[in-house]
Amino acid sequence: MEILAYPFMQRALLAALLTGIIAPAIGIYIVQRRLSLLGDGLGHVAIAGVGLALMTGQAPIPWAVAVCVAGAVVVEILRQQGKATGDVGLAILFYGGLAAGVLMSGIAGQGAAALSQYLFGSLTTVTAADLAVIGVLAVLVLVPTLGLAPQVFAVSTDEEFARTQGLRVRLYNILIVVLAAVTVTLAMRTVGLLLVSALMVVPVAAAQNLVRGFYAALITAMVVGVSVTVGGAMGSFYLDTPPGALIVVLAIVVFVLSWPYSALISKRRRVAPVLPELVDDETLLPHVAVPEAHPHKHGPDCEHPAIRHGDHTDYVHEGHRHAQHGDHYDEH
Ligand SMILES: [Zn+2]
Ligand SMILES: [Zn+2]
Ligand SMILES: [Zn+2]
Ligand SMILES: [Zn+2]
Repeated sequence: MEILAYPFMQRALLAALLTGIIAPAIGIYIVQRRLSLLGDGLGHVAIAGVGLALMTGQAPIPWAVAVCVAGAVVVEILRQQGKATGDVGLAILFYGGLAAGVLMSGIAGQGAAALSQYLFGSLTTVTAADLAVIGVLAVLVLVPTLGLAPQVFAVSTDEEFARTQGLRVRLYNILIVVLAAVTVTLAMRTVGLLLVSALMVVPVAAAQNLVRGFYAALITAMVVGVSVTVGGAMGSFYLDTPPGALIVVLAIVVFVLSWPYSALISKRRRVAPVLPELVDDETLLPHVAVPEAHPHKHGPDCEHPAIRHGDHTDYVHEGHRHAQHGDHYDEH
């Protein structure tokens, strides 16, 4: 393909590829924690970092990372102390970031035009140095995102449960927002700071329509992410459009197409024959009655492995094996 012959397009496509992998990988935790707009807010904070870099004549990415990570930690500490529940503190921080960025870039004599390549992405201007920084940041985000998946998933799904399991919930929460902040800055050349949140959230939403289970959704979201970022980067080369906008529109198209599929598979699942149950011949395992309602209703189509066990059926769920039993459940 002729487009691969241009070095600037090679860099653009590599940057797009890295963003497409990373943004949904951290986005899945953000969606899980129902903080879908966190990325958008952090994008606004990062603008202050870019403005600061323009004003001082430094490279924008390191400043954007530093300011965005600092903002993310402040947001998370406010949230943990229950001070950010009214949203006003967050709004002030986020719009303050935007205003400060525009102000500082104005002082630098560059105005909104210099900022706009970071707001909406500017893939074709990615330099070799940018690409090196993006590559290092991508590894820094991906290693803990994949390596600590079980712990981070537990913390983002159910904080109380994770705490009872002895996980350092506050630390993991800070880790998630710091990784989100790094991802936002990494994506500013690709989709831009104003649209980055869409790339963190929309491929995850599409993946959740297409597959069931955390790891399947994680992998599918990354595949959707890479397809739309690389597709958008190539498309914008031919159509001469801003890449960030095309990438986000493509992601939304995939999400809309995943909708009827989701309805189709959930219908097929309902009429599918029940999975053969595993039979457990060791019927003497002791049961411990847990005097709480079980958060999830197990049944033949809930996809947790079912084990026929004496006069009842146990389900394997979050590493436990138990049976629902009226207003409590029995744990082995
Ligand atoms: Zn179940
Ligand atoms: Zn049992
Ligand atoms: Zn269960
Ligand atoms: Zn019981």
